[in-house]
Amino acid sequence: MSFGVERQVQSLLSQPLMKSIREAGARERSKARRDLDPYSYVSCWTEDEVMDNQECKALVLILATKGCSWALRSGCSMCGYTNESSSSATDESLWQQYLSGMKNFAAQRVLKIYTSGSFLDTFEISLDLRKRILQDAFDNFDMIVVETRHEYINRKNLEDILPYREKLVLAVGVESSNDLVVHYSVNKPSLFTHFISASSLAHSMGFRVKSYMMFKPPFMSESDAIRDAVNTIRDLSQYSDVISINPTNIQRDTVVELLWKSGAFRPPWLWSLVEVIRSSNISGPRLMSKPTGAGTVRGAHNCGRCDERVLKAISSYSVRQSLDVFEDIDCSCRKTWERELMISRFGNYFTESNYRIRE
Ligand code: SF4
Ligand SMILES: [Zn+2]
Repeated sequence: MSFGVERQVQSLLSQPLMKSIREAGARERSKARRDLDPYSYVSCWTEDEVMDNQECKALVLILATKGCSWALRSGCSMCGYTNESSSSATDESLWQQYLSGMKNFAAQRVLKIYTSGSFLDTFEISLDLRKRILQDAFDNFDMIVVETRHEYINRKNLEDILPYREKLVLAVGVESSNDLVVHYSVNKPSLFTHFISASSLAHSMGFRVKSYMMFKPPFMSESDAIRDAVNTIRDLSQYSDVISINPTNIQRDTVVELLWKSGAFRPPWLWSLVEVIRSSNISGPRLMSKPTGAGTVRGAHNCGRCDERVLKAISSYSVRQSLDVFEDIDCSCRKTWERELMISRFGNYFTESNYRIRE
């Protein structure tokens, strides 16, 4: 984090603004909280994936568990998954959700099984259920991706799932290697040093680790967000098999949405994402990005005319890992982006000339 951002974050912290934004975020979330049917999964679809450097299909299944433990206490500034839970979910109902999802199995090679929280948190998925699901998935898929906060990656939890490690990928939302960004911009109580220990332990026991980093959390200028992302990718590269850049998108009933509606936040430009990829000179892990809601006002976007082309190049980079894909891409909005980047270097992180609030 540059000195500028530290100063911005700390000065925001010293004001009651931060507290009131968080309280407002918690209010919005609690108003919108839905208690889902414990026997119905949240959603299930098939998407493109890369495995062993080859494109393939992945089945994505989102289970409605009791919810993310952190979200129930506070929650990350950008996360709208908190409303996709079921307070009465049980092992039996979650198993039924899993079986319903498996009806969509059509020889996809990869299963991504998400809970809108942490698969390794026994508050959401009990030990027995965890093993039952993994055993079934292990028999049918070549790769299984589960998401978990790194706080739940410990020796005991990993020993319990050791038989599945050869196919298992632990996907972890690290967000940033800068603890100030994680605490104050993302509002997540995690430390990068803990991620390093968790990931090292997982690797030493034969698991793979996929790291998510959050590109441009709130209270950050576009230029500082680029710098933070490049630093984070560098820091993650020793401890990750795959690094996924996740540009912040505007999810409903979140702190980020409140800021966006009041004109104080714009998701990152796609040009910024390209800049991060170009500047991240790492070897080893696969660097990829599949930005949610990209090309719309709620996701990372450019001017609207070039978004599709730029996204295609990003998607192609994610598979081929070659910067050549960006060579012939240009648009007149690049000049606007360059200007905004320059302005944002002076700390004016709320100024957006291309602020497209309309949906
Ligand atoms: S991002 Fe993850 S840890 Fe944060 S509130 Fe959402 S589910 Fe919980
Ligand atoms: Zn453009």
